[in-house]
Amino acid sequence: MRAAVLHEPGDVRIDDVRLDPPKRGEVLVRVAAAGVCHSDLHLVEGALGDGRWPMVLGHEGAGIVEQVGSGVTRLAPGDPVAFCFVPACRECPACRAGRPNLCEPAGRNALAGALGDGTSRLALLDGTPLQHGLMTACFAERAVVDAAGAIRVPAELPLWQAALIGCGVVTGFGAVRNVARVRAGDSVVIVGLGGVGLQVLAAAKLAGATPIVAVDRDAAKLERALARGADHAVDTSAEARVVRALRTLTGGGADHAFEVVGLPETMLLAWKAIRPGATAVVVGLAAKGVDVALPAIELLSDKGIRGSYYGSGDPAADLAELAALAVSGDLELGGVVSHLGGLDDVPLALERLRRGEGGRTILVLDPASAGAPATTDGGIR
Ligand SMILES: [Zn+2]
Ligand SMILES: [Zn+2]
Repeated sequence: MRAAVLHEPGDVRIDDVRLDPPKRGEVLVRVAAAGVCHSDLHLVEGALGDGRWPMVLGHEGAGIVEQVGSGVTRLAPGDPVAFCFVPACRECPACRAGRPNLCEPAGRNALAGALGDGTSRLALLDGTPLQHGLMTACFAERAVVDAAGAIRVPAELPLWQAALIGCGVVTGFGAVRNVARVRAGDSVVIVGLGGVGLQVLAAAKLAGATPIVAVDRDAAKLERALARGADHAVDTSAEARVVRALRTLTGGGADHAFEVVGLPETMLLAWKAIRPGATAVVVGLAAKGVDVALPAIELLSDKGIRGSYYGSGDPAADLAELAALAVSGDLELGGVVSHLGGLDDVPLALERLRRGEGGRTILVLDPASAGAPATTDGGIR
């Protein structure tokens, strides 16, 4: 089959690769659609550590189950599924403590580029083993994943939209619902309105937050945020006194701030945007080795800062719930997609992410099952 392979940092090629059949507890999924995420760019740039190549990229996607390995009873061929890149084991200390998003074996295998049994089903045609990107590897025509990494979604949900749920949506919604627990009337500042930032916005909107202030350096992203329900937009490239503007707009400091960029300066901005007693939630992924410094005196005002990983809840349950919300119309998914493409467009989509342009790119791997709208030039909004 064809797949997008990271050979070494900066070198992504579309290659023919070998995919072995699913073993016990695994499923084979024909990939319908996959989203290109900023974490893919981090991996491609080698920013998440050495040794994470050669790898088949892609951790956000959806498809149709084609084959199930022995012992799999929850899924059957023909089931539509969204990928979940933390297939929790339900047995390790983190899982037993109610933190399946921090499942230890899943974290270890994701880092090693392996499936749940610690091995790979992927290889180049010359036999060179390939890593599975975050236990998923869905920038490919097919993917073998742990059964817990494939969450059944309603058949009514178009798969090009279901593809978004397993990374950006669950991450953004979880930060709002599971970490900050935003309530109606709370003020929210969102720093960074890329794919995940727009999901934070959607979740804050659904929770009834007001006002919602979008902060970005890119005017087009701010426009998109305003169109999707942000009350105010602050352009950091134009506004000289960003912190003062945020404090004014939120009546002295926000009840919640979300950092969705992954840079020390934007983390500091989220910290400065909150009122005493509030907590800034860092969702953005920083490169390995990057430190962040805070004015320690401000800890005296009961301010907090905390991280969030993959929604900080039970990803499998959250994915299923978000898919149901999308079907009921309470969650609009497709609006964050700015471009549609094919497998060959992976380098182009990564380049757009590098330049900070556009929203999500969805790769349509199987047009027949993806149900994506038609496009002539790749852009849909
Ligand atoms: Zn991602
Ligand atoms: Zn576990």
